[in-house]
Amino acid sequence: MKKLFSVENLGSYDVVICGGGASGIAAAYSAYEQGAKVLIIEKAGIIGGNLTIGHIGPMMGEYEKNTFADRLTKLLAEDKFLSVYDFEKAKIKLTELLDKENITIFLNSSVTEVIKKGKKIKQVIFSTQNGLKSVSGKIFIDATGDGVLSYLAKEKIMYGREDGLVQPLSIMFTICGVDEKQNLICMHEEMDTPLKKGNYLQLCKDACASGELPKTVNIVRLYAGLNKGERLVNATQENGLNPLSLTDYTKAQVELRKQILQVFNFLKNNIEGFENIKIKDSSDIVGVRESRRVKGEYLITSQELMAGKKHKDVIVHNASFALDIHNPDGAGQAESEGLPPQPPKYDIPYRATLPLKTDNLLLSGRIISGTHRAHASYRVMNIATCIGEAVGISAGLCIKENTLPKQLKVEKIQKVLLDKNINLFN
Ligand SMILES: Cc1cc2nc3c(=O)[nH]c(=O)nc-3n(C[C@H](O)[C@H](O)[C@H](O)COP(=O)(O)OP(=O)(O)OC[C@H]3O[C@@H](n4cnc5c(N)ncnc54)[C@H](O)[C@@H]3O)c2cc1C
Repeated sequence: MKKLFSVENLGSYDVVICGGGASGIAAAYSAYEQGAKVLIIEKAGIIGGNLTIGHIGPMMGEYEKNTFADRLTKLLAEDKFLSVYDFEKAKIKLTELLDKENITIFLNSSVTEVIKKGKKIKQVIFSTQNGLKSVSGKIFIDATGDGVLSYLAKEKIMYGREDGLVQPLSIMFTICGVDEKQNLICMHEEMDTPLKKGNYLQLCKDACASGELPKTVNIVRLYAGLNKGERLVNATQENGLNPLSLTDYTKAQVELRKQILQVFNFLKNNIEGFENIKIKDSSDIVGVRESRRVKGEYLITSQELMAGKKHKDVIVHNASFALDIHNPDGAGQAESEGLPPQPPKYDIPYRATLPLKTDNLLLSGRIISGTHRAHASYRVMNIATCIGEAVGISAGLCIKENTLPKQLKVEKIQKVLLDKNINLFN
């Protein structure tokens, strides 16, 4: 049969990382530190994922000192806790960080197919401006956030909660021109402020009920911005859409842009100090909190997070973040009024990064093996970054020892982390 098209092979790498977001960057750097020849294949025109083009901050989730999350936080930090980091500087600093001889980055390259032999991925195929290309690799890491590589490798995929719904899609944006002499600094669900027209949180709820705000928006979260007079706004949300569907994703992009204007007008017309605000910028991409999760050798549950469970095969220690389930089916939180429950510090086990059907694949970031409710906690950037660091070390060690992630003794990953003075057991 005549071949319809040809796919040029662009070479061979020790570790191929699909997705260059927070967790992909951590994985790449950590595998590189182990001496591996690393490739990142990234769909966007720049690395960083939600950290840069996603316009998302602050980086949240508890982490241990000396982890890659600690390093990233310091690299990107401006002076205040819970302050938003500088998206523009992040683009420069992250690009600089990965500018190493043994790290190659292919941008504008979207992973579209895999070639597997038995239980191993041999090549990934990706689309570029010059048609389809492929690379060969020894160890592959899925850091796409959407589990694209795992899906293509025919791994077992989990999606949404029991009714098939996932957390809503959102676009975050920044406003400027806030009069700082008024007292409204930064507000979340838990921080109320009395205003001339009433309390802020009640004002949001009333505006949602009256239609001034979208029916899915009953809280407008404001984070202190990088510069005076700026606030990062986390409010818009579209429910009931599948972020992996082409039509749904486009619909979200259209509807969320309309919502930005509605939220902006609500703030401008109701909040003292916000009379002269302008929209400064926003994410280009639709923010996806949840899509595919990949079944692995261990499934993390919310019950164990709430119990602060510790694991012998710990690779991320003392992580914690609220079970933050933005309502898949309406406004606000899915399971609580106001603040969601906060687990004590918990462990992420290595087995949750090992998928069932592919021996040379590791899971990174928010797609690791866990339930819908557990994912709502560990999906945040600091924890995703710590997961990336550990799987990057695993991949690098596998290359050194000519072995596979499932055969590698977890104590060896733990030793590398301990040698970096990262606490794993106390
Ligand atoms: C609206 C919203 C608000 C949030 N707020 C916060 C917050 O305040 N603080 C916080 O810490 N976390 C927040 N999160 C969660 C957090 O941003 C993500 O869960 C986290 O970034 C996950 O990191 P990751 O590396 O797994 O994925 P991502 O950052 O999504 O990175 C995935 C990368 O893979 C690339 N990719 C995808 N498909 C392909 C493909 N086929 N081929 C090649 N590359 C591909 C993407 O372009 C991207 O660069 C928020 C999320 C959303 C959507």
